[in-house]
Amino acid sequence: MIIDCHGHFTTEPEALHDFRRRQIAAHAEGRPGPDPESLSIDDETLRACVEGAQIAAQRQRGTDLTLFSPRAAGMAHHVGDAAVSLAWTHVCNDLIHRICTLFPKNFVGVCQLPQSPGVEPAACVDELVRCVERLGFVGCNINPDPTGGFWTTPPLTDRWWYPLWEAMAALDVPGMIHVSASCNACFHTTGSHYINGDTTAFMQVLEGDLFRDFPTLKFVIPHGGGAVPYHWGRYRGLAQDMGRGPLEDLLLNNVFFDTCVYHALGIELLTRVVPADNILFASEMIGAVRGIDPRTGHHYDDTRRYIDGLATLSAADRHKIFEGNARRVYGRLNDRLRVLGIGDGPPA
Ligand SMILES: [Zn+2]
Repeated sequence: MIIDCHGHFTTEPEALHDFRRRQIAAHAEGRPGPDPESLSIDDETLRACVEGAQIAAQRQRGTDLTLFSPRAAGMAHHVGDAAVSLAWTHVCNDLIHRICTLFPKNFVGVCQLPQSPGVEPAACVDELVRCVERLGFVGCNINPDPTGGFWTTPPLTDRWWYPLWEAMAALDVPGMIHVSASCNACFHTTGSHYINGDTTAFMQVLEGDLFRDFPTLKFVIPHGGGAVPYHWGRYRGLAQDMGRGPLEDLLLNNVFFDTCVYHALGIELLTRVVPADNILFASEMIGAVRGIDPRTGHHYDDTRRYIDGLATLSAADRHKIFEGNARRVYGRLNDRLRVLGIGDGPPA
């Protein structure tokens, strides 16, 4: 089984975009937001959104299951206020749940959280619990910068975040550290803000003692870990200079990287630098980069090809990356698949 731990619903129906526009306009004019009941999307429309897109790509690329979350840039936590974020988050997570119910063999849910600048992450706990316990989701996306590129939020190691970490640890769900859209013109959303966010989050947890307080908490850092694997020596050296011991001992029980790196050499570097136990297969399709690489004739985000092409990877490590690690890191995934009657093999 090949589990893609990072996919987004980026092929939403126009009705959802229209709802969001109405919501933003209402907030700007000081009116109550639109009733979620006014958003009417039938199952046929929802099926059509993913059948020719994410599901077609799964089929073409030979991957099986995608851990599926709302469009990351669409979370836009900086828009409106906490109430706007909560209403929008409900709508987005409910749609993910419907897609997972329509296609239980293709998708398992990962939720967005109703974060908002300056609002304590404790406010996200109810929605996390709802998604995990009632909707069967197995993870969440955590935005380390709800301001969209201005970074005024305390670092992830600050106690400000602790109620969310407590809830995640109690529910046994990991968080993918995933910024949303940039509203700072200095940062292109997917080209720089995403990669900055990944790198910044890694350095925050390197500097803090978060995993001493939450030894079972797990973060997946997407996009191959941003700049981290390429600069592994820098981070090892910083940890050493800070007297924090070997980087591997400090973070690798809790921090994982996905394979959303869109060229073979990058994936090779990732797999040679980071232990196979800490790498989870992912493509982020259909996401940031949608084109075909003229050098290979294949989509940049067809990341399975890069891993298949790695002669240096043992069969055991390949299995960990494609399946075993996802089952281990997403602690509720095995049970979820068992409930759905699919892929109930033991973790690697
Ligand atoms: Zn993403």
